[in-house]
Amino acid sequence: MDRTPSRPPVDPGATLVLEQVVSPVFGASCWIVGLRAGGPCVVVDPGARVSERVRDVVSRHGWEPVAVLATHGHLDHVADAAGLSAYYGVPVRLHADDAYRLDDPFGTIDRPGASGTLVAALAAAGLDPADYRAPHDVRTFGTSRSGTSRTGATRPGTAHRGAWRDEPLDLDLDLGLDLDPGFTAADRTGPRALAVRAVHAPGHTQGSTLYLLDDVDASRVGGARVGGARVDVALTGDVLFAGTIGRTDLPGGDPALMQRTLRDVLGHGGTPGAEIDGARAVLPGHGPTSTLAHERRTNPYLR
Ligand SMILES: [Zn+2]
Repeated sequence: MDRTPSRPPVDPGATLVLEQVVSPVFGASCWIVGLRAGGPCVVVDPGARVSERVRDVVSRHGWEPVAVLATHGHLDHVADAAGLSAYYGVPVRLHADDAYRLDDPFGTIDRPGASGTLVAALAAAGLDPADYRAPHDVRTFGTSRSGTSRTGATRPGTAHRGAWRDEPLDLDLDLGLDLDPGFTAADRTGPRALAVRAVHAPGHTQGSTLYLLDDVDASRVGGARVGGARVDVALTGDVLFAGTIGRTDLPGGDPALMQRTLRDVLGHGGTPGAEIDGARAVLPGHGPTSTLAHERRTNPYLR
């Protein structure tokens, strides 16, 4: 494509700016991370009724969204994904193993026949299945362990459970969001503009994913006690919270896989030298922020 840059190239060392919009439904946190000065951004976990505030944040910074990311496919994290994806003309990206949930988030969140359900809680919060729209542009990453497409009828936790359990946990990929959409490849001035790393962390759901971003403005990470002006962050969805972890009793949840994730991905049990740095701020899908080192010291599920 032959296009002329309309503004100076992004400084590859620029600090990322983080914004949080909390959904009124289940208090789910939507995180928007972008470069200063009109650069690219990603919108992570747009839950219910956050769209208007997300658009305000994006326009205030002059950002250009390049993707809507989901840490997993539960409705309280993706209810507004379709609308924002369509509004900005960008894909929704999530791990292949949770993609099926986007087709029917109400039908995939509760155990069959369960009483006192999350669907009932969502209905009480005013979310009606009739109002839900699945995103048109969904691009998965990772390998679907069940081998089904997102329109497949697989209900993980049942027949296909063994198929995905056997996969290694060390999925770790660059999502390729490192190009400012306003520039051609030749305009790149460094190794990254907005690099997002996805780390598969199953247990809460099959496709639960941590998103790692580096060099975030440390004043934006809430109550997490971090040193320095910049901090690396992990958006942990419903895998790791401050002081606790996500539930594993919902369909697609798996206590044993969660244990492996906590030990090998978030703890000290993974590949020597490749563990996630404890100084990284933990920005969960619900509740206060923390740091991984603090959680390793104090979180009873991670010690
Ligand atoms: Zn969840």
